[in-house]
Amino acid sequence: MFEDDENFDKEILSGAKGEYDIEENILRPKTMEEYVGQDKVKENLAVYMAAAKSRGEALDHVLLYGPPGLGKTTLAHIIAGTMGTQIKVTSGPAIERAGDLAAILTNLNEGDVLFIDEIHRLNHQVEEILYSAMEDYALDIIVGKGPSARNIRFSLKRFTLIGATTRAGMLSSPLRDRFGIICRLEMYSPEELKEIVTRSARTLGISIEEEGAYEIARRSRGTPRIANRLLKRVRDFSAVMGSAAVSRTDADKALRRMGIDALGLDETDRNLMRALIEKFNGGPAGLETLAATTGEDVGTIEDIYEPYLLQLGFIARTPRGRVCLRRGYEHMGAKMPESLKRQMNLFDLGDE
Ligand code: ADP
Repeated sequence: MFEDDENFDKEILSGAKGEYDIEENILRPKTMEEYVGQDKVKENLAVYMAAAKSRGEALDHVLLYGPPGLGKTTLAHIIAGTMGTQIKVTSGPAIERAGDLAAILTNLNEGDVLFIDEIHRLNHQVEEILYSAMEDYALDIIVGKGPSARNIRFSLKRFTLIGATTRAGMLSSPLRDRFGIICRLEMYSPEELKEIVTRSARTLGISIEEEGAYEIARRSRGTPRIANRLLKRVRDFSAVMGSAAVSRTDADKALRRMGIDALGLDETDRNLMRALIEKFNGGPAGLETLAATTGEDVGTIEDIYEPYLLQLGFIARTPRGRVCLRRGYEHMGAKMPESLKRQMNLFDLGDE
């Protein structure tokens, strides 16, 4: 039952939303207290929300950025809940025309949250409508064509835009500059993920031992969405094995069968590392070159694979491309060439 889909591992570890996440809404924490980790972001938001509430104003626009599955959508819902307002959820690619966005904006009430996922994928005309909407709570619409064209301005209710993106750098600067609050979500520690796995198991009625939860947590690439997915797959495995509760051994066996190693790396991560080590002598290798060599998409490497490899200290970004670090060599069971060690000093990565 685990070999039925050859792309299975890739999808399950991608962090991006997919068919495995049907129960996602049930698992979403509803309050800041239930939202595990991200302490700095939570503290900042708490201050801004309290201040806005005491002034009786809408919260300033918020940009949330970080790899997929880290809790941006969840946080947007919690913000709306805390502010006691409604939330309207949409995404960059879903808003095709300026008129679509105008319709959404004019339907918002005072203080409402408009959540735009993948905001970096808005098309240019739609994005331009957002500028005056965010800054002046106004909608500038051109009516008519040619010399008789006129600009009509509608006023909007004061709303809060929450934008989510995988990388803040992909936003145009006029858009980025209009967010008063910019929060970067960090990857979660194994302890935090263990808390999430334990809570999800309770919600889904899965019996799991503490060590089983930890094993899943530390192999989930720092990402809650992946932790929840792995929990469900491991539960299936454990049930087939006839276990009463998911044990560490069940988790380990199931994850290994899925091609997920002790640190949560899958075959694609290992291919990337192998390419860097074997084909490029540890690097530096440009992202495009690495993508071409491994047959992966540049965006997928940047959004999904690289953040975790960087977090583990397996690779580093240098001005000349990606390099494999000592820890990466060790994990792959390879020896770091002397020439690369000398280059590390050059890039100020000497301790690696
Ligand atoms: P994103 O919008 O960043 O892709 P989501 O907000 O959709 O991520 O989160 C994916 C899933 O991970 C949610 O269903 C939720 O159950 C879980 N999750 C995310 N962040 C947290 C958190 N801080 N605490 C508990 N669960 C979380």
